[in-house]
Amino acid sequence: MAEKTAIVVGASMAGLLAACVLSEHFDRVTVVERDTLPDGPEIRSGVPQARHVHALLVQGQHLLEEFFPGLSDELTESGAPRFTWCRDTCYFTPGGWIKRFDSKIQTNMIRRVDLEYRIRKRVSARQNVTFLTGRDVRGLLADDANLRVTGIEVTVRGAQDVEQHTADLVVDCTGRGSKTPEWLVALGYDAPRETSVKSYVGYATRMYKKPADAPDWTVLFINARSAEGNPRGAAIFDVGHGEWMVSLGGLNKEYPPTDDDGFMAFARKIPSPTLAEALSRAEPTSPIVGYRIEGSRLRHYDRLARRPEGFIAMGDAVCSFNPIYGQGITVAALEARELDAALHRHGTANLTGFAGVFQKRVAKTLANAWVLATGEDLRFPGTEGDRPGFAARLIQRYVDQYAKVSFNDELLTLTFIKVLNLAAPPTTLFAPRIVARVIALTFRQWRGMPIAGQDGTQIPAVQG
Ligand SMILES: Cc1cc2nc3c(=O)[nH]c(=O)nc-3n(C[C@H](O)[C@H](O)[C@H](O)COP(=O)(O)OP(=O)(O)OC[C@H]3O[C@@H](n4cnc5c(N)ncnc54)[C@H](O)[C@@H]3O)c2cc1C
Repeated sequence: MAEKTAIVVGASMAGLLAACVLSEHFDRVTVVERDTLPDGPEIRSGVPQARHVHALLVQGQHLLEEFFPGLSDELTESGAPRFTWCRDTCYFTPGGWIKRFDSKIQTNMIRRVDLEYRIRKRVSARQNVTFLTGRDVRGLLADDANLRVTGIEVTVRGAQDVEQHTADLVVDCTGRGSKTPEWLVALGYDAPRETSVKSYVGYATRMYKKPADAPDWTVLFINARSAEGNPRGAAIFDVGHGEWMVSLGGLNKEYPPTDDDGFMAFARKIPSPTLAEALSRAEPTSPIVGYRIEGSRLRHYDRLARRPEGFIAMGDAVCSFNPIYGQGITVAALEARELDAALHRHGTANLTGFAGVFQKRVAKTLANAWVLATGEDLRFPGTEGDRPGFAARLIQRYVDQYAKVSFNDELLTLTFIKVLNLAAPPTTLFAPRIVARVIALTFRQWRGMPIAGQDGTQIPAVQG
């Protein structure tokens, strides 16, 4: 039987996860990447977002552990703090500080460069995976009738050389800036339609030396609050090795400044004073770096009327989210799991029909994350995008009430944390026993019992 081959374009998280899965199904997998890949956990130009805080959601870490057994222990041993959600996280939501208790849910606090490097090492150790770096993919090759993609055309960086590489399946993992829509048009197909929710997000990030008398949390996370018209939020992540990574974030063009005074002035305007207080006692160890992104964008590859066979897209190339919700890596991992399942069902002997089926699975897989990210962003008046209809507004009212009454309740907090971590679907918030609890707590609130009213000044102590 002829050898079966696959090419993955882009060696970031989606590309590495795709390559890992494809190596189980194809004889040979080639990962083609524009950057020269460093032999260590270093920033590279193709992934500038690695300078900013990256949360690895519970579901994401669970899936990464499935793909790469032992990864969580490896991260812990390398100094990436392992922490327990709720107990070690101080989280100021629109409802107030959530209760601190032992949720038994654990993940690692990661540095993005470190995670990518460890996964790259594991993928490159696979015998049938090859990396071709310093190569800029500039188009797709197709058969004479343009019905099937047969490979890619590549320019070698720093040289005039053009290379052609062929494969049975080509996977686009080139991220948000993917040129696939143009490549499809060049082959005579329509570009996919796009849905955008433009919340105009800005990040500013700085490293600090963790103070010797640092508080007892691993994460301090403060949400922006639409109800109070405050589009500013922030996070301090204890990334290990005695360092804090601090990112300030603003929505609706409230971009955090990258100069010392502006950075601190912005930190003082976020909804809780605890972050600015913590920073005033810590020593900065790096310059401040900024990042701006338009918002969330979804390309509807699942709805293409015509598509070439032998070509699929994954990760940010399909959907990139407002990063504040920390979903991108987890969604890429969920899509990789779908890729594995789809290849098990379809096989690689004849890939006709595979691309259409897979893109439909991708669209389903990312739908919950899309609803969570865009639903929240659309609460802010300066966000551009289709506003929710009547039914969705009712749901939002319920979620608002949930936030107001849930913060001091372990069951409701745990449910909320699982949904945010993509470990449970948003529908879990509407399970009968959860709704009953929200109603009961709402009545308690109406009867004057003090449930809400936290102003964000006091970080709660761990209970239990
Ligand atoms: C500021 C910020 C913060 C974020 N925070 C989080 C977080 O907390 N948690 C989380 O899960 N996610 C977060 N994300 C999202 C996360 O970084 C991405 O979702 C994740 O990296 C998966 O993206 P990807 O692999 O699809 O694309 P990318 O990471 O964008 O990688 C694309 C790769 O393709 C290569 N490439 C591009 N074009 C070509 C070409 N023509 N030829 C060859 N190679 C090419 C690039 O060099 C790069 O290596 C954040 C994003 C940003 C911007």
